Amino acid sequence: MKYEPVIGLEVHVQLKTKTKAFCGCPTEFGKEPNSQACPVCLGFPGSLPVLNKAYLYYAIKTALALNCAIQEKHKFDRKNYFYPDLPKNYQISQYDLPLAKKGYLDIAIENKIKRIRINRVHMEEDAGKLIHQEDLSLLDFNRTGMPLLEIVTEPDINSPNEAYEYLTSLKNLLEYLDVSDCDMEKGSLRCDVNISLRPEGTSTLGIKTELKNMNSFKGVKDSLTFEIKRQQEILTEGGKLTQETRLWDDQSCSTLPMRLKEEAKDYRYFPEPDLPLFINDAKIIEEIKKTIPELPHQKLERFIKAYGLSESSSKILIANKKDAAFAEECINEWPDKDKRPVVNWLIGPLIFESNNRKCNISDLNIPGGTFELINLIKSTEDEKISNLTAKSVLSESLDTAKTPSQIIKEKNLEQVSDVENLNKIAQEVIKENARSVSDYKQGKDNAIMFLVGSMMKKSKGKANPKTAQEILREILNTD
Ligand code: ADP
Ligand code: ZN
Ligand code: MG
Repeated sequence: MKYEPVIGLEVHVQLKTKTKAFCGCPTEFGKEPNSQACPVCLGFPGSLPVLNKAYLYYAIKTALALNCAIQEKHKFDRKNYFYPDLPKNYQISQYDLPLAKKGYLDIAIENKIKRIRINRVHMEEDAGKLIHQEDLSLLDFNRTGMPLLEIVTEPDINSPNEAYEYLTSLKNLLEYLDVSDCDMEKGSLRCDVNISLRPEGTSTLGIKTELKNMNSFKGVKDSLTFEIKRQQEILTEGGKLTQETRLWDDQSCSTLPMRLKEEAKDYRYFPEPDLPLFINDAKIIEEIKKTIPELPHQKLERFIKAYGLSESSSKILIANKKDAAFAEECINEWPDKDKRPVVNWLIGPLIFESNNRKCNISDLNIPGGTFELINLIKSTEDEKISNLTAKSVLSESLDTAKTPSQIIKEKNLEQVSDVENLNKIAQEVIKENARSVSDYKQGKDNAIMFLVGSMMKKSKGKANPKTAQEILREILNTD
């Protein structure tokens, strides 16, 4: 029997407020353990939480960008469980009245748009961090009470690849919104994965497992690929799956059982008595809506329409907000209507250099800035230097902090296109290569390339090959 994977993702994203969700502790990363904790986030008796306004605004902004309906009323609940990193023994979360419901995110998959429905978006605080050492474990409560947003999809995802695309698109959206630094290494973006199989063509949901502990999008993809195979084998042998939580292990590239899946009733949810029911004001929502910038899919459309770019080039250019702004600056500075030369440079040599240097194209810091870059590209268009030379000039410029034009001048790299000079070199080459000349005259057209090559050598690579060839042909054909 053929099985179809059914996947739902729960993404936790830390919103970049200056202070925590319900207290005034700072949210800076990497500070001395337990230096950013107070009676409220540690749950001391008598302390009371107060909702951080910026947290609510960022949450609404994100939910709106995910096309969700902001609920008129939302409230906080206590999710009760014991764990050493949870000093209050409960987490403030949202249960039956979440901030927002029913949205969607469109992703591009195999040149088609697929809509992934969002089930709910709710706010919840983070727990602390347990640091395990050889014979003891340490606790750091700096993360306790950090403002998280949980974004839960419907089970609309059907392959590891789609899950990867969804996460990439979501991260891109969050970066555009400027609501989170989305750094998986710092734990600002975490993802739990729910996966089950069902016979292809059927619609009832199978028994799912929940995967945790993936620390990259690739980890999510790999864990799904592994888990699909594991479930498939069990089902094919007529076995039964158990609903459980499994841990992804990066080392062995496999999932290991962690615990049986707990259910909502295990958490004894009840309304947080120290926070009121919140009513969302339509006016404020409208105000927040206005702060949403141009989003990735809108930018993509505009790049295609306004600049006549292809969809694939545009996609590369908008993949990152800063790079998109940089690309747009270059495109606008490009003097010609046809933007292809500059776009080809952006998605060609510039991406190549940025990959080598493990940074974004906007962080390459080209000496002389976009002005120099545009000039460099322009000189290849005007055939003052060859494309190959221009690429190595760019590379050298990045290494040495000299501007491209400085390098071209110092090394005297401009191609020789002036006819007089090239004519002289052509005459010499013709004199020195009687064999190729006679080959050419007898109809071996290829022989011309050898002569062009000789001209290139003589000019130390500076002859414009196209002009050189034209001049050679003219001399030889009129001889
Ligand atoms: P739980 O109560 O176990 O947390 P939820 O209904 O809240 O489950 O769903 C959590 C996530 O799991 C959602 O993204 C949802 O789409 C997904 N999901 C639910 N049931 C299944 C299933 N049978 N197979 C795959 N994913 C599922
Ligand atoms: Zn605090
Ligand atoms: Mg759930």
